[in-house]
Amino acid sequence: MFGIRVLIFLLGIALVVWILFRLARSPSIEKPGKKQVDDMVRCARCGTFVPRSEAIHEGDRDYCSTQHRDEDR
Ligand SMILES: [Zn+2]
Repeated sequence: MFGIRVLIFLLGIALVVWILFRLARSPSIEKPGKKQVDDMVRCARCGTFVPRSEAIHEGDRDYCSTQHRDEDR
């Protein structure tokens, strides 16, 4: 009786902590913060933002694909 209530209470606490933990972590991942902007580059051909690691670098320009790099020559 009392034990079950304590268990439910603890589960509720754990749930709240889990939600707060997710809320605290998600903004840095989903919210377009400054760090994410720094990691994104814009395709000089179509304007699509692509991760720097996936972008095609040509001189001082970045492209989303080799096709757009070739088209912009
Ligand atoms: Zn492009």
